[in-house]
Amino acid sequence: MPEPFLSIQHVRKSFGTATVVQDFNLDIEAGEFVSFLGPSGCGKTTVLRMVAGFEEPSGGRIVIGGKDVTTLKPNQRNIGMVFQAYALFPNLTVAQNIGFGLKVAGVPRAEIDSRVAEMLDIIKLPAGEFGSRYPYQLSGGQQQRIALARALAPRPKVLLLDEPLSALDAKVRVSLREEIRSIQKKLGITTIFVTHDQEEALSISDRIVVMYGGKAEQVGTAFEIYNRPATRFVAGFVGTLNILEGRLAESGKVRVGTGEIALKDKLDGARPGDALSLALRPEAITLDRRKGDDVLMAGEIADVQFLGSVIRVRVRTGDSTVSLDTFNNPATPPPQIGDKVEVSFSSGDVMLLN
Ligand code: ATP
Repeated sequence: MPEPFLSIQHVRKSFGTATVVQDFNLDIEAGEFVSFLGPSGCGKTTVLRMVAGFEEPSGGRIVIGGKDVTTLKPNQRNIGMVFQAYALFPNLTVAQNIGFGLKVAGVPRAEIDSRVAEMLDIIKLPAGEFGSRYPYQLSGGQQQRIALARALAPRPKVLLLDEPLSALDAKVRVSLREEIRSIQKKLGITTIFVTHDQEEALSISDRIVVMYGGKAEQVGTAFEIYNRPATRFVAGFVGTLNILEGRLAESGKVRVGTGEIALKDKLDGARPGDALSLALRPEAITLDRRKGDDVLMAGEIADVQFLGSVIRVRVRTGDSTVSLDTFNNPATPPPQIGDKVEVSFSSGDVMLLN
């Protein structure tokens, strides 16, 4: 990796006796879009607030653009921030909101006006129609776009987004996240995006930091995090996962439901008779005997959920149940509860959990 632009080094944070962030390390490249993903209370916001300068770390340091900013005030860090709640000033117009930071910094009037117009253009709200409106005259999505424009107007080097979409409805959330990503790419601004929504993180990030209990569990691309989870927590938190409890047989295969799985080199010292937990994504399993699959299980359909483009089917096999996804085909009726079926998958797709 080239010289990181933003570097979080051995950062810790305690509130009283509670340590909420422990030895957090992360290097972010210039122009990179990194998401912090994790359940409520895992410390995402606390790390973000330390990068912003709203909290001081109990240990470690934060470097931005080669400069140690650990003890600098927020306004000395060249950072723009957008929060979850629409934090616009209610008594200022859209244009005044966007120009606020520039005015505080003493930027001349004409320069503010042109920067505000430029920002309105970037967020695709026509200045003539929106510049003189007040926040209460805007939808939630429009308010968040203004909050983004306000954060970007002073041309910060780093953009910090703390769950900026979580108060919006589903459709607006998806379109605005794509817009944020495209603006971020266009401006090439180094960005940290905090979210507890895995689909959001998977869809727009260059890299994702999955956090749990104040620590980074795994750092990687969406593809790596989803397909090669490093820990049991990551495997369970990101995506839907089948956890299969099996037992290692004398044959060296793991018995699960009515099938046997060859884990070979993944077995890592396990001995016959040992109980093992295996994980498998629903999309790795076929409701069929797929050519090339080496694991075949007989079972019965226990549940069918129609999700639109895919149908999620639960199949009971022996004492186990697996979920799998099949594509919806308008010409074929969906599977029915009670149908006797066979499912197959490849041992190579099975992850061993410890
Ligand atoms: P959420 O998604 O719910 O916002 P999060 O992952 O962002 O969660 P944080 O807000 O970073 O989590 O909080 C991490 C932990 O630190 C929580 O247990 C929280 O209660 C605690 N915490 C945060 N701020 C303070 C504070 N000022 N004083 C005491 N405890 C705090």
